[in-house]
Amino acid sequence: MTARKVLVVEDERTIAEAVAARLRAEGFEVEIAGDGPAAVDAARRIQPDAIVLDVMLPGFDGLEVCRRIQAERAVPVLMLTARDDETDLLVGLAVGADDYLTKPFSMRELSARVHALLRRATRNSAPVAAAASATMRLGDLEINLAERRVLRAGVEARLTPTEFDLLVHLASRPRTVLPRERLLADVWGWADASGTRTVDSHIKGLRRKLGADLIRTVHGVGYALEVER
Ligand code: CA
Repeated sequence: MTARKVLVVEDERTIAEAVAARLRAEGFEVEIAGDGPAAVDAARRIQPDAIVLDVMLPGFDGLEVCRRIQAERAVPVLMLTARDDETDLLVGLAVGADDYLTKPFSMRELSARVHALLRRATRNSAPVAAAASATMRLGDLEINLAERRVLRAGVEARLTPTEFDLLVHLASRPRTVLPRERLLADVWGWADASGTRTVDSHIKGLRRKLGADLIRTVHGVGYALEVER
């Protein structure tokens, strides 16, 4: 099996080198890009299996990098943000980032996230089982699992791959409160409760695209999909 490739996009050399060293030690092939245009070129050239992408970059920023790369080919992206900036996060998730880490982060955490990203990507590209080729219909919500398309009241919503997976999980147990930690484990593949804000951010994305009334927040616990029978 050939080594999986990770593109690390970060202009701060010490961080880029540390991330690359850790990932190489785990058997990944790693390439570093130090600015926006170089990142887009490298993604085109090496066709990475995953991208670790800093938001603050010279040239154009990580959000624009993500937008351009995802427009050409879907690839899992772990975004690095300097601060817990809600706007950056929401824009990042909207342009196709799957997960994010706030600086400073440990190399152990970074490595766990990259592995989780790749596990999910492998799972999502697996052949769709016959049973899963159905369409879920819940009230005015329609989820086509084979085509990964979602309509509400007949209007199609363009979801990111992660938003789609999260919606399917909620829809598989409608009107049931699913704890954020469980959603994190099931949808993202990791069990560290410190990442529950990732869940919150993606829920916001779903509400923005499908209507605020679709998902109920149960404070301190989790979320439930609220649809008519
Ligand atoms: Ca930077």
